[in-house]
Amino acid sequence: MANANAAQAFVPKERLSDLQLVALNGMFDERDALSVLRFALEELTSHPIAMVSSFGADSSVLLHMVAQINPHQEVLFLETGKHFPETLEYVETMKQRLGLTNVRFLEPDTSDLARFDPKGDLWQTDPDSCCHIRKTEPLDAALKAYGGWVTGRKRFQTNDRGVLPHFELTSDERIKVNPLAYWDFEDVKAYRAEHDLPPHPLFNVGYLSIGCAPCTSMVKEGEDPRSGRWRGRDKTECGIHFDVSGKIAKPQAKGQSMKTLFKDGQFVEDQWRDLAEDEALIDLDHVFMPFSLYIEHKDRLAGNNGALGLIVQPGDDVHEIGDDVHRFAAIAVEFPKFADGRGYSSARLLRERYGFEGELRARGDILTDQVQFLRRCGFDSLVVVDGPTRNALENDAIAGVSVFMQPTGRDIEVPAGTRPFLRRVK
Ligand code: SF4
Repeated sequence: MANANAAQAFVPKERLSDLQLVALNGMFDERDALSVLRFALEELTSHPIAMVSSFGADSSVLLHMVAQINPHQEVLFLETGKHFPETLEYVETMKQRLGLTNVRFLEPDTSDLARFDPKGDLWQTDPDSCCHIRKTEPLDAALKAYGGWVTGRKRFQTNDRGVLPHFELTSDERIKVNPLAYWDFEDVKAYRAEHDLPPHPLFNVGYLSIGCAPCTSMVKEGEDPRSGRWRGRDKTECGIHFDVSGKIAKPQAKGQSMKTLFKDGQFVEDQWRDLAEDEALIDLDHVFMPFSLYIEHKDRLAGNNGALGLIVQPGDDVHEIGDDVHRFAAIAVEFPKFADGRGYSSARLLRERYGFEGELRARGDILTDQVQFLRRCGFDSLVVVDGPTRNALENDAIAGVSVFMQPTGRDIEVPAGTRPFLRRVK
């Protein structure tokens, strides 16, 4: 595994390029959260990285890590004026407990409050604007002094955060670092227990994600941990975390489904779905099925009349379905981690050796710098949720790569300087 010092080679003066960011994420993919945080705070850029904490339900973990690295590190806290009193108490508790000496309160501009929220009820009539003046604006102003910031976001919290990487690049040329991206609820619980960290006073009574008092409610068993935020409203994020494409953008509406399938140069509705658990293998139409299930039931499925799809995971041996590719209208190849390149090999085998002519889609952790390689391997559709990658696709701004080390057998591109014998289809 690469060591953190090696990553210094990727540290920019001003910002990381997309490609360096992919490399950086690969290098830290299996590193623990403390290493990611230490690297972010001590080495990542020539500009300091800010530590931002909500002092909410899960905040004790990152705060404890920060205290181990440097208890004098500035920690930014958005004092919206709408917090539970318990949250403000918790700030003091954690400062004492962890010896944090530099927690800075960021408050909304008083003239903005007087002008836009004189009665303090904007959260009721226009929560987006309320978050904007109480959170986004103060944070944006404070971050001007920084090259990026650390967040406590985790993949498990919501579907929208499902592919969160350790390092993100925003188009305002800042870096967002998510040391706990891969942690789940149990990891947080275990860490808190191991280090005897006091919970937020409201956590044990059912508040699993804690923001401002008017916009936070208890979460029932089985609910998404953040479902208690802005309950009943078309809002899931406050704005400060919605800049995967760089801008502090309008939050995505609850229930509004994002088109994630990129095909023929645009994001389109997906006509396909995955086979449900325990679904009968009858009359399947525009349904992707797991590889092993297909192998097990291939004889039965020979009579299926609808459009059949197949899911290929890393480790699935596509030679096993080589003679059957004509049965599939679409094959989805999974890339659970961008560093796992097995999907490229599967795609090339399907296209080049077995002559698959249907839709070949890549899905999973798809990032900008993979796009051209994916196309070269024969993919003609991509499922993309990563903000910068979506942005680049929509704006036709995927960076080109001029030197190919592994030429494909397709003749649509011939990399400069490649010897003919290397282009042979194996
Ligand atoms: S969470 Fe609610 S009260 Fe807090 S800033 Fe946003 S809308 Fe206003």
